[in-house]
Amino acid sequence: MEIDYSQLSPMMRHYMETKKEYPDCILFYRLGDFYEMFFDDALAASKALEITLTGKECGLKERAPMCGVPYHAVDSYLNRLVQKGYKVAIAEQMEDPKLAKGLVKREVIRVVTPGTITSAQALDETKNNYLMGVVYLDGRYGISTADISTGEFLVTEVESDRELFDEINKFSPSEIICNNAFYMSGVDLEDLKNRYNMAISALDSHFFGDESCRKILKEHFKIGSLSGLGLEDYGTGIIAAGAVMEYMYETQKSTLEHITAITPYSTGQYMVIDTSTRRNLELVETMREKQKRGTLLWVLDKTKTAMGARLLRSFIEQPLIHRSEILRRQDAVEELNMNYISREELGEYLNPVYDLERLIGRISYKTASPRDLIAFKTSLEMLPHIKKLLKEFCSDLLRELEDGLDPLEDLWDLIDRSIVEDPPITVREGGIIKEGYHEEADRLRSAKTEGKTWLAQLEANEKEKTGIKTLKVKYNKVFGYYFEVTNSFKDMVPAYFVRKQTLTNAERFTTDELKQLEDVILGAEEKLVALEYDLFCGVRDAIAAQVVRIQQTARAIAGTDVFCSLSSVATRRNYVKPSINEKGVIHIKNGRHPVVEQMMRDDLFVANDTFLDNGKNRLSVITGPNMAGKSTYMRQVALIVLMAQLGSFVPAQEAEIGICDRIFTRVGASDDLASGQSTFMVEMTEVANILRNATRNSLLVLDEIGRGTSTFDGLSIAWAVIEHISSTKLLGAKTLFATHYHELTELEGTIAGVKNYCIAVKEQGDDIVFLRKIVRGGADKSYGIQVAKLAGVPDSVISRAREIAGDLSEHDITSRAREIAQANANTAQHKAVPKPDEVDLQQLTFFDTVKDDDIIKELDGLELSTMTPIDAMNTLYRLQTKLKNRWKE
Ligand code: ADP
Repeated sequence: MEIDYSQLSPMMRHYMETKKEYPDCILFYRLGDFYEMFFDDALAASKALEITLTGKECGLKERAPMCGVPYHAVDSYLNRLVQKGYKVAIAEQMEDPKLAKGLVKREVIRVVTPGTITSAQALDETKNNYLMGVVYLDGRYGISTADISTGEFLVTEVESDRELFDEINKFSPSEIICNNAFYMSGVDLEDLKNRYNMAISALDSHFFGDESCRKILKEHFKIGSLSGLGLEDYGTGIIAAGAVMEYMYETQKSTLEHITAITPYSTGQYMVIDTSTRRNLELVETMREKQKRGTLLWVLDKTKTAMGARLLRSFIEQPLIHRSEILRRQDAVEELNMNYISREELGEYLNPVYDLERLIGRISYKTASPRDLIAFKTSLEMLPHIKKLLKEFCSDLLRELEDGLDPLEDLWDLIDRSIVEDPPITVREGGIIKEGYHEEADRLRSAKTEGKTWLAQLEANEKEKTGIKTLKVKYNKVFGYYFEVTNSFKDMVPAYFVRKQTLTNAERFTTDELKQLEDVILGAEEKLVALEYDLFCGVRDAIAAQVVRIQQTARAIAGTDVFCSLSSVATRRNYVKPSINEKGVIHIKNGRHPVVEQMMRDDLFVANDTFLDNGKNRLSVITGPNMAGKSTYMRQVALIVLMAQLGSFVPAQEAEIGICDRIFTRVGASDDLASGQSTFMVEMTEVANILRNATRNSLLVLDEIGRGTSTFDGLSIAWAVIEHISSTKLLGAKTLFATHYHELTELEGTIAGVKNYCIAVKEQGDDIVFLRKIVRGGADKSYGIQVAKLAGVPDSVISRAREIAGDLSEHDITSRAREIAQANANTAQHKAVPKPDEVDLQQLTFFDTVKDDDIIKELDGLELSTMTPIDAMNTLYRLQTKLKNRWKE
């Protein structure tokens, strides 16, 4: 909207000037009891918030579009805008409008964005709210991630798009800020925004200066050199972290004292789990409903505190790959299992502990209320008990947690002495500070209470003097203290009563004496309220000064909570401690699917075994009719491996887990319709990704590869994929491969490392019964028609299908497959065409395949040094014509 500034009223001009500094934000401009928005902001906000659009005289011909939200309900409106991806700048009145001379001074005090919002109402306490900075520079990505509500601040660097997406996935930030190079790099930002509901914005280049980024980090952490922070090897990472820091300063306009550390990490410390695998395995939310119920997190989360819940989630998002670290976690869980009485007791003490991480955030921000401090005190009360209980344990990790837990008794004592037990939420209305904490406060308080007695005395005296029986001293905010005389006694009012107000049935008066008393009482009250506010801020600041101790304790509490949770689930669900090896052997006896077994009410879950290694049992081809339980089984194996690597016990009778560096899954038809790709295209893209990025230490779960296309193409692709994966020269990853192509069972015996399994079913006449048990061997029938019958397809269709199936006879394709497999095996023996296992396909060139062709032979034989240019032209022309004729044939 074009606006002529010279015409604007002074307030509107100031509004426009402020808005100019925050062009990408909606500006909430405080006017009295409302935050108002004007012009384009008003149009956008009225729509987003469904509030009425009005107008305001602004000096221009037309009124300015305007909408507003009341200040006392601002949080909920803010949250709604931020959730929709808007940034909101809040311009506050910086002086009391009653006292201001001229235009009231207003300033932006904070900018609220999706990644920096701190209001408790807007945040899910079991989830971190991450802001991520991504910098693309010299072919590398610097990534820095911060949770402003807890003070967590991380940094890393990666080289490829894939790794970047893995990080984005791991943290699912609600906001990404990036440099222009990343914004323009061709990464599909729209897809990212939609998929994760996150805001992405490219920031001005001043955020990404190498020098300025180093400076802001050094200044914030009060350190002379970045090597002190362990950042020396993170050139691009430093820029990402510096930009995030600068952005936090600019939006929060606070000193961010609760951000006390920055943690560099290497992505190589954790198992790699890509986007679709996270979704397929339903680690923290279900695929369809995006709920927690029905996920691995749901099964494992018996944490008592918000900090524990967040830490457990990050354990699941980042399983470990170093054996020693996994064993340390296992030891902690095991020790808690063995001391379950102490564990239960720990749980009792953890239960009342509030979210210390976010509380200290609010305390540092100076937004914590007196009630927050009482919640803080209640939490602190538990710490000595938790510490004492932890002392009983001797495993490494639990010892470290005990060591890190500071009982913070001094802070408990401070709050206990200063803040009353049931304080108000507001800070400016008094009633916060305890009797005995501060002498002046006590004195003012007693003036206030004694004042009440004085008033009662005055009332009695005047009643007697005037004879007005109903005379009363009353108080209201507008008139202060007054005598009230009902109309029936009006005639008895003496001359020294000064009339203040007339009502229909009474009149109100004051006297000199009452006025004097009022001054003393109200003065004391006002002074007390102001003093209490100062005292409260003092207490809050004293706590804020201890932020490092509190954060360290919060981490210890989170850890204790997570291990108690893992232990309690392990005991309750009958999990076992898996032994962890680095030889690549996965041996699970009577394994169960952690989630399905818990979701089943009436039926019993049937446990199954698994054996995979890097030798003869690399790849299991799993057949069986639809609904037999193939994908449940495969996910179960992947989840058990993942649980083992996050340090949890696992649902099995016995388990030996070879550490996997990555888990890949390609399961079912992906519902990636939003991206506009066909199911088959999505499937093949995922297969391509797996084949390119898996290593021999990865675990692959492939369900129905090739299903999205015709039988012959599908079978051929599935076949070739198995050949590629099982070849130790090409990949050799451990794989579970479910398929409805029974022809693939022919591969056992012809390709090393491939073993057939099927999920048993029992035939009962024309029907089948699912046994859910995995056994060696291939299924020879698909039982599709029986499954259709079970699903309720009408009998007439079923019997017609039987007739057609009889005619078509699947036999043809099966026997042909057998022939090809056999031929493959035979030729392999004669070395005529080597098996994939024995050839490095990457070395096969175009010329290997066409070297016997006569055109190629002729090209090869040309004596170029003796040819004239015209000869060469003619020869080329002839060869080209020959080639074209051949294509025409
Ligand atoms: P498939 O992949 O072979 O089509 P699913 O794995 O989807 O079959 O399993 C079908 C249903 O069978 C699941 O919804 C589950 O409830 C049940 N199921 C699968 N495995 C088991 C098991 N081991 N024990 C009991 N029920 C199972």
